[in-house]
Order: sequence, then structure tokens, then C-alpha cells
Amino acid sequence: MYDNTEILNEIKKYTSVQDAPLNEPERQYFFMAKLKEVVDKRSEEKGKRLTACVVTFGCQMNARDSEKISGILKVCGYELTEDERADLVLYNTCTVRENANLKVYGRLGRLKNYKEKNPDMITVLCGCMMQEEGVREKIKKSFHNVDIVFGTFNIYMFAELLYMKLIDPDKNATQIMAVKKDYEAIVEELPKDRKYPFKSGVNIMFGCNNFCSYCIVPYVRGRERSRASKDIIEEVKTLAKDGVKEVMLLGQNVNSYGKGLEEDINFADLLRMVNDIDGIERIRFMSSHPKDLSDELIEAMKDCDKVCPQLHLAMQSGSSRLLEKMNRHYTKEDFINLVEKLRKAVPDISLSTDIIVGFPGETEEDFLETMDVIEKVRFNSVFTFQYSKRTGTPAAVMENQVEPSVVKDRFDRLLKLVQSISDENTKDQVGFTEKVLVEEKDDKLPGYLTGRTDKNYLVHFEGCDNLIGNIVDVKIIESKGFYYIGELV
Ligand code: SF4
Repeated sequence: MYDNTEILNEIKKYTSVQDAPLNEPERQYFFMAKLKEVVDKRSEEKGKRLTACVVTFGCQMNARDSEKISGILKVCGYELTEDERADLVLYNTCTVRENANLKVYGRLGRLKNYKEKNPDMITVLCGCMMQEEGVREKIKKSFHNVDIVFGTFNIYMFAELLYMKLIDPDKNATQIMAVKKDYEAIVEELPKDRKYPFKSGVNIMFGCNNFCSYCIVPYVRGRERSRASKDIIEEVKTLAKDGVKEVMLLGQNVNSYGKGLEEDINFADLLRMVNDIDGIERIRFMSSHPKDLSDELIEAMKDCDKVCPQLHLAMQSGSSRLLEKMNRHYTKEDFINLVEKLRKAVPDISLSTDIIVGFPGETEEDFLETMDVIEKVRFNSVFTFQYSKRTGTPAAVMENQVEPSVVKDRFDRLLKLVQSISDENTKDQVGFTEKVLVEEKDDKLPGYLTGRTDKNYLVHFEGCDNLIGNIVDVKIIESKGFYYIGELV
């Protein structure tokens, strides 16, 4: 059951139930019912609704988890706010970069001051950063203002943990630490508060087995775990009934979907199944690892009319020598061949990628290999990163860490090349009419709307608000580099 209204009715059934069921999601429905009673009572005592602020750091999978957390808070009676002086503040953390942790510690200090003014304030931390033991020790030692800590494997337990906290007579003394080491259950039948009513992310798998030598994700998100296809299809059908036109299939490496499942299925099969669902008009997916992008998957991208001609394919480096050190399992030639196959199957595909500059041991020759691929492939957009050491990853202890000034110089040269190619690519789009899913009002240009083409290009154009949520034809009349100006056709 994935429909919010159905879930809400299910929760109401537990209002009079005394004992918490053992099975999930029923157990959480029980605690949501109990939590709502507490929140309603406290709101009455306070003369206004308790408020909650959810702050999300990091990737789209974190954003999807935050939609679940916000959904739980809303059905339990909290009013959502963006103001961190709320009755409950939750940080859904990311830990891909070392400085991400520092940012969170800095902000926790500020929350401490807010708590001094509102002693009943509840501070909650979850997400990838909390999977690190060292972080939890630091929270215990230095941040007593933090009330609840949970991780990436038990997002679904939020209502239970919050209820325990709110009814705990000694609540200011106890800090609830509930971080799991692995999945005990995958629970997606939870209320969700979507950012857009007409588009939604759908988790299809969790975790990663790739262990790229610079990446902390496998250590905080665990081993790959795919959801059964019938659950995914049921969720997408429910979303379509609820007015969703565009779905983003999410996973750390969606291309390896299906591994470990009893049913014999892979990502290409799943794409075809989602493509058959009425009401869905657009399908996107991320993240894709080049080593698992099969011919079968490329065939499915070509055949499925709802799969958007857009793919984010992280290359990271153009040097085969470095790709081996990164533990990426493909070479420069493999990557270029893959792009050629993709462009043969989906000629107008929009390709984006990630590039790391300054990986340990990177030589000028390695860097020029990367520049060579950028020139050959001419990506539509490139996300560029200066290598940053991540404690706990093999690359962090590798020899020949590159001088920061050398990294900066290469980074600037890469940016210059990427920018010049992007300028040419974007100019080529002018004059074409594109199908745009209208997302929202433009907050800078009055009377303008913004939306995205099926290639994921951002377009601003004049139009009425009643177009929001619809797919409309827009002629591209001007390129502004990272976005376009268009006119409604
Ligand atoms: S594929 Fe590599 S970079 Fe991506 S999440 Fe997995 S380990 Fe990290």
C-alpha cells in the first residue's frame, strides 16, 4: 500500500490498539497513531501546532528519504516549516565529503542556542553521516542537545523513535542512538510528502557493492539490496493514479538492479515494466555505473518511449591507469565505446557525467587523457570535482596525493574546456521546440514559469500558473548557459 490516503486510514485503525505489532509497516502505523495523540495534545497545550523542520543534505536518495520523514511528521500532526527554530529539527545528513560533517557540527552549535530558548525542542540526526561510529561518539560527547540519532537502514522507524522520546519522562537526559549496521527490512509503505505532486522518486535498490577507492558510500549504505519488482510496480501504479507523470528510479547503481533477488529480473526488464504503466509519461533513472550499462539496457532505453533521452554516466577520469586505481572496472576505450553505442541507439541523448581532478597519483598525462575524452564525447553537462580525501576510503591513504595548486590549475583548465563545449552545445538547441514538464513559477521573472525538457534542460518561459504539472510545447529562443529562455507554442 503506497497511497497516502490509504496509509492514513490504516494508521487510524491503530488508535485504539494497545500493543505494538511486530511486523512492519504495521508497527510504524501503530506508533504514528500513538505519536499523533501526543502531538495533538501538546499542540493543544501550546495553543498552536507543533512545528517541524526537515533539512536535507546530499543526493536524491536522501531527498526521497526526507519525503518519507516529512510525510510521517505531517500525518502525526506536525506543521512543516523551513525555520530551524521549530519544535523539531531534523538533519538528514550526507558524508560523501569530509567537510560535509564539519558543516553539520557547525549547524548543531546553532541549534543548541535555539534549544536554550525552547527546552522542549527535539533535535534529530539521520542519514549517511550517522552510520560512522566516530561521528556517533562525537555526538554523544559534544552534542547533548541531539535527542535522536538513526541511520540509513532504519528510516522507517522514525515514528517509533520519536514517540519513545516524547513520552520518555526523563527525555532531556536520554539520547536515543538507534543506528543499524544493515537492513532488517525494506519498508517503503510509508506516508510521503512529495516536493512536486506530478513527479516522484522511487527507490528500486539500496547500497553499493562497487567500492570505488575514493567513495565512502558502500561503508554507510551497505551492500546492494533490490526491491521486488511487484512492489516497485505497485508503487509506480499508485503514484500514476495520484497524478504523477514523471518517475525517477533511484539507486546507488540502478544498472545492477535485480542481483540477489529470487525472481530472475534485471534493470532493462524493470524499465520495460514501468514503461507499460498508464499515466506515467516520463521515466528517468540514476545513478548508472558504466561497467553495468549492458547492451540489453541500451536496447530498452531505445525501445521504451517514456524513458527520457537523458543519462548521467559518471566517468570520473579519462585515464585507464587512474580508473584502475579508482577501482572503476572500465577503461577509457570502454567508456568511449559505450557512448558510441548509446548515441547509435538514442541519437539525441543528453549525456552528463562526473569528473574528479587530482586523484592521488594523477599525472599531467592522466589529466590530458581526461581532457581528450571531454573533447571527444562533448557531454551536455559535466559535474567537476577537485579530489577531496575521505577518511575511511582506500584513496585517502594512497601515496602521491597531488599538490593543491596543481589540482586547482587542472580544475580551472577543465572548467574552461567544459564551459566552451557547453556554450556550443546549448546554442545548438536554439530554435527547437521541446516538450517541457512545467514545474513551478519562476521566482526571479514575474509571469514566467520553469520546467524541464525530456533531456532535463531547464527552461524559463512566460505562461499561466494553471500549466504547472503539465507537459507543454515550448520553443527554445535563447541559451543562457545553464538554462534556456523559451516561448509557449
Ligand atoms: S558506484 Fe562507486 S562512486 Fe558510486 S556509490 Fe558506489 S562506490 Fe560510490
